[in-house]
Amino acid sequence: MSQLTLFPIEPRLSKSKFVSGLQCHKRLYLEIHSPELATAPDEQTQAVLDNGTGIGELARRQFPCGVLVAFDHRNVALAVKRTRQLLDDPAVTVIFEGAFQFDHVLIRVDILERIAGTSYWRLIEVKASTRVKAIHLDDLAVQAYVLEGFGIALGGMHLMHLNRQYVYRGGEVDLAQLFLQEDVTNEVRPRLPDIPARLSIMKQMLLEETTPDVEPGSHCHVPFSCPFWEHCTAHKDDRWVFHLPGGKRTFDKLVQQGIELIDHIPDDFKLSGVQQRMKANLEWIGPDLKSALQTIRYPVHHLDFETFMPSVPQYPMTHPYHTLPFQWSNHIEMEDGTVRHDHYLCVEQRDPREELAVTLLASLGHEGSICVYSGYEWRILTDLAEAFPKLRRELSAAASRLWDLLIVVRKHYYHPGFLGSFSIKAVLPALVPSLDYGDLEIQEGGLAPLLYARMIAAETTPREKTRICAALLDYCKRDTLGMLEIRRALLGKTFSEESSPVLR
Ligand code: SF4
Repeated sequence: MSQLTLFPIEPRLSKSKFVSGLQCHKRLYLEIHSPELATAPDEQTQAVLDNGTGIGELARRQFPCGVLVAFDHRNVALAVKRTRQLLDDPAVTVIFEGAFQFDHVLIRVDILERIAGTSYWRLIEVKASTRVKAIHLDDLAVQAYVLEGFGIALGGMHLMHLNRQYVYRGGEVDLAQLFLQEDVTNEVRPRLPDIPARLSIMKQMLLEETTPDVEPGSHCHVPFSCPFWEHCTAHKDDRWVFHLPGGKRTFDKLVQQGIELIDHIPDDFKLSGVQQRMKANLEWIGPDLKSALQTIRYPVHHLDFETFMPSVPQYPMTHPYHTLPFQWSNHIEMEDGTVRHDHYLCVEQRDPREELAVTLLASLGHEGSICVYSGYEWRILTDLAEAFPKLRRELSAAASRLWDLLIVVRKHYYHPGFLGSFSIKAVLPALVPSLDYGDLEIQEGGLAPLLYARMIAAETTPREKTRICAALLDYCKRDTLGMLEIRRALLGKTFSEESSPVLR
């Protein structure tokens, strides 16, 4: 069937479709014509979406006299009709989820507030972020365009977002402090004149029979990760220049020069050391690898935290998106090669931090280096030291013993199996093929906080709690055992001029 027959009339857009179209015309086209090609949201993506919905509902409590337009997307005509009735009722001062259509664009407005004593309304968009982003302004601009086209006189456009400075003191969350409302009218207004042309181009594009020819690249992940990434990159080679570490600028330059594969990058193209190693696609052992590894002190602790970041603070003296550790794992290697494993996981719904810190300090003792993979553990220890003054001295002392394995790997070693990534998930199986994450229920860190939240939830059955507890323990343990095995594997590598002649 021709795509044209799908839209005998002008296609209807929504604000989310408009935002998709701003990111990429192909994304918008696929969302409308071939949504089945999208990768279904994983648990993490779904959690982000659910969080946004929850924050929106919480924000409404700031407007106790607000009236909700409850008809959903299956009842658009009824939603628009109900919104009209509420607009016409002078007793209604705040409307939630009002439905408006203009120029074939349908929007649902988070909050529309009548400005007292005037015929003007204030448009309020609620976001779960902690600051205003450019994409929020585009989102508000298309809403303002539709509202004004519909006949609403707008007296202001605001973004309501979470306030990272709010420190929760216990008891009821203070909504007046949890949310910040920023007047962004002056930032949104200048965007309005471009909206009709942008919409017109999108609608025209949607009437075409063929999908727009857009090459995947950096734009696919900004401002959101596109759900069609797997579809668009299915035919790409492992040696596609996108996988070159070092970011967008190098990738864009290579694309401009028509270079698709890393192996086709000309020798005179300026590459960083890491990029050169990936291009060479050989094992590379830096001359100083051994001496870097020997700076470590025994007993060597291998430490990893798992953390969660509640958008709405749950425990006193925390703020929105405060990073709260709930679990640690520590593999301790003695100088004679013997290994001990310690761990902690808070299995109850309470602030885990003090108990976590006390048990950790007992496991770390006062001797030896603490091997970590990235600067994350330093941040957590420093934050704990600030939160618990009586533990500050010991936690700061522990932080001063951290030894970052990631820095050593990045600077002194490369393996073709890394595929340009220095993440422990890439480094571990390349260096220690018998040890990866494939046998675990949790295979990457983003899932751990979601399962933790499920484990401590009151409605979770004891059987499910036990299962999740085991999965969390296995995952964190694998990270620290992985660090230990990576160190051991690297200690077995020997530099020689013959094996690593080019890329020192
Ligand atoms: S993956 Fe990239 S190119 Fe493909 S539709 Fe999404 S944004 Fe566009």
